[in-house]
Amino acid sequence: MIPVAEARARILKGFAPLGAETVPLAAAHGRTLAVDLRARLTQPPFPVSAMDGYAVRAADIAAAPARLTMIGSAPAGRMFDGSVGPGQCIRIFTGAVVPPGADTILIQENATADGATITALQAEPQGRYVRPAGLDFREGEIAIRAGTTLDARHVGLAAATNHAWLEVRRRPRVAILSTGDEIVLPGTQPAPGQIVSSNGPALAAFVAEAGGRPVMLPIAPDDTNALQAIAEGARGCDLLVTSGGASVGDHDLVRDALGAKGLELDFWQIAMRPGKPLMFGRFGDVPLLGLPGNPVSSLVCAVLFLGPALATMLAKREVGPKIERAELGCDLPANDRREDYLRATLERQPDGRLVVTPFGKQDSSMMALLASADALAIRPSNAPAAQKGEPIEIVRL
Ligand code: AMP
Ligand code: MG
Repeated sequence: MIPVAEARARILKGFAPLGAETVPLAAAHGRTLAVDLRARLTQPPFPVSAMDGYAVRAADIAAAPARLTMIGSAPAGRMFDGSVGPGQCIRIFTGAVVPPGADTILIQENATADGATITALQAEPQGRYVRPAGLDFREGEIAIRAGTTLDARHVGLAAATNHAWLEVRRRPRVAILSTGDEIVLPGTQPAPGQIVSSNGPALAAFVAEAGGRPVMLPIAPDDTNALQAIAEGARGCDLLVTSGGASVGDHDLVRDALGAKGLELDFWQIAMRPGKPLMFGRFGDVPLLGLPGNPVSSLVCAVLFLGPALATMLAKREVGPKIERAELGCDLPANDRREDYLRATLERQPDGRLVVTPFGKQDSSMMALLASADALAIRPSNAPAAQKGEPIEIVRL
């Protein structure tokens, strides 16, 4: 049994960033940027007004009240063709270009108008309500770094920097193979002794959420030939994830069945709970991550190993899992040599403390508890008993 950190390091060594592809902006949401995105223009390109009012020379209204002559107007999108001289101003609206000569916006609430005669009711510091050219970004500057996963803000910024097409990482294709004679598809009536497969759908959702593309293989019975045949469906994928059949029982065939077909095992079994029978290797050209069958173990291992593997293929800025700190909400007994990942609730106290409280029951078959958990509380191997209030590391779910 190897430690969790070593297992993750060995798994990540098996992956490299995938190639890039070009997608339209409308399809870029959720994708990971493959190259630094540089602004294709300066924003704003000219100084613009941040308010409705008058574009003035600050010196002219320093001794307010002061009278000015309005010589034109500039709505957003239409430039005033001229410049503002001493004693002059123009009517201006939010987003309009501030003409040469003017350096300050007098908001309309601080002025009165009588035809073309404007009275400034108060002085303004020079530059007030003027957005200088390049306030937001300048042409050629890096707007978004490679490795960023694009959310709505990034899509907006990419548009603002005038990109209609983006270079993103190809989405990793992840074959998902659930094993077990007892497993049936959701929606079918399980016969006595059968159970509905939750791992396949859960892992597919996990892969999609992490930026990959799940490829569902048929459920494999606990039969060597069938398992070998179905695993062939992973050829051409970037990763094969199996669930179940990785333990030490007579019907746990993944290692031997795929071993006979060229699976080169890197490791099998880690010092972790839940998730001891984790397996990693290469099945021909395809890395293979063998997850335990128990639904909780399989998803916890997805969080700790599959997520970082996908992030590595996508060359994300953060590979994860993101470890945070919280305060323990209850006492815990000493731990044995297996690193423990306890499903827990996470609550922000009124005074700002983040308190994590593991559930009393931690059976690795209990999906309902996993779905209601907020975080995993991490107990290092051989950790001494811990008391309520002590700091503890967590991973949010
Ligand atoms: P195994 O690793 O194959 O021995 O499976 C361990 C446990 O997980 C057994 O109770 C299986 O019935 C259960 N299990 C295996 N695969 C799945 C699956 N796809 N969905 C839900 N439970 C599963
Ligand atoms: Mg099984």
